[in-house]
Amino acid sequence: MQDFQDAIVNGAKAEELAALPVPDHYRAAYVRRSDAMMFEGVPSNDKDPRLSIQVGEVPTPELAPDEAYVAVMASSINFNTVWTSIFEPLPTFGFLERLGRESGWGARHNLDHHVIGSDGAGVVIQVGSAVRNWKVGDQVVIHCNYVDDQDPSSHNDSMKAANQRIWGYETNFGGLADLTLVKANQLMPKPAHLTWEESAVNALCASTSYRMLVSNNAATMKQGDIVLIWGATGGLGSYAVQLVLNGGGIPVGVVSSADKVQLLKEMGCEAVIDRRAEDFRFWRDEHTQDESEWRRFGKCIRDLVGEDPDIVFEHPGRQTMGASVFAAKRGGTIVTCAATSGYMIEYDNRHLWMKLKQIVSSHFANYGEAWLMNRLIDRGAIQPTLSASFDLDQVADATRLVHHNEHEGKLGIRCLSPAPGLGITDPEKRARIGEDRITMFQRHQAV
Ligand code: NAP
Repeated sequence: MQDFQDAIVNGAKAEELAALPVPDHYRAAYVRRSDAMMFEGVPSNDKDPRLSIQVGEVPTPELAPDEAYVAVMASSINFNTVWTSIFEPLPTFGFLERLGRESGWGARHNLDHHVIGSDGAGVVIQVGSAVRNWKVGDQVVIHCNYVDDQDPSSHNDSMKAANQRIWGYETNFGGLADLTLVKANQLMPKPAHLTWEESAVNALCASTSYRMLVSNNAATMKQGDIVLIWGATGGLGSYAVQLVLNGGGIPVGVVSSADKVQLLKEMGCEAVIDRRAEDFRFWRDEHTQDESEWRRFGKCIRDLVGEDPDIVFEHPGRQTMGASVFAAKRGGTIVTCAATSGYMIEYDNRHLWMKLKQIVSSHFANYGEAWLMNRLIDRGAIQPTLSASFDLDQVADATRLVHHNEHEGKLGIRCLSPAPGLGITDPEKRARIGEDRITMFQRHQAV
């Protein structure tokens, strides 16, 4: 991919890119089927992605008519990178086997290595014969909703398609690589005012938060809504806070350090709870929750904003769901997309039904939702929450940081981009939106 890297960095025209041959191998971060049981018996926290993630050459898959090859300039670490690398809750090779049974093109994915990564920004370098809206040379970002648009169940809302998958997690050929293979309907225009790394970190987390809060497929937030946000400076939470502020809501951010409290204040989130300083113990032991702690948590929120939250933005799961259901306002909504601390959830159902609350599920975003979210970033209404970036060779170290909650916002990975800060093609727009706003998480991390 060296020729593509040189050409892109030197601003080559589409014709020059089209004339370059796509190599039959490329550099990628991947896990191996033969390692899938390597952590058996090891506690989750001790499973080390540095032992399971490899970076090396892999063969280039064949291109289907509805697909594009993208030269990946940058990508990002998502929590699904963590899940894949520690083979929890399941090794991802089962997903690849299932996809492999679906069709001839699907069979390409069922390999003994799984190229990971569900975000990417780069340049289209070849398109299949059925691709209409994209061409070689287009600068793009990639969303991770992978659907077969010839399946009737994928229409209306493609997240409800029978064969919906997350690219780079439930499919092979993900974004943590110098090259990726995507369906044309995963492509969106790269915001011209952002660097490659700033562009690459948004699609997965921002679109997920958008569907959870803004789209009418989940919580349908309105102006004035009070929204309790767990992990408010994390991948999902950092976009959720911005979406609430941008939509005229009132965010209540929960974080776990004074440093993160400070960052939230800088973002304009005035109501903040430091869960570590408050030392909430929602679980007395492994089996018993403590309602008095839920009450103390609820009081904390009322002390800050005077009311219970209309919406609770849930993803930590087992550790927090009892408190989330309790804290939501009468008639309120708990919107959940994950369960980092455990997926066997317990809550007191009396607080749900007697107070007419609802739990709404959400998962990534359909193409329309991802597109609208990308538009908000492109217009400068929502900023990337890139805090630090790494080279592709350091994917395992960066994944380990996310696994251990030692990061803020998003971690970017430079793939073909040879240095930080490249890729801005509209500096005037960047200046208009404001360097300080765009780089808030990067500057905070640097302090
Ligand atoms: P992240 O960057 O690690 O942020 C999560 C934040 O949650 C952390 O920063 C932490 O913040 C907080 N947290 C972690 N454990 C907690 C606990 N036990 N109690 C309270 N807060 C806790 O991860 P992310 O990218 O936001 O993803 C979060 C989860 O959502 C992951 O499980 C991920 O797989 C999932 N996810 C699902 C989708 C989907 O489409 N369904 C999309 C994206 C992510 P503090 O320590 O500061 O409180």
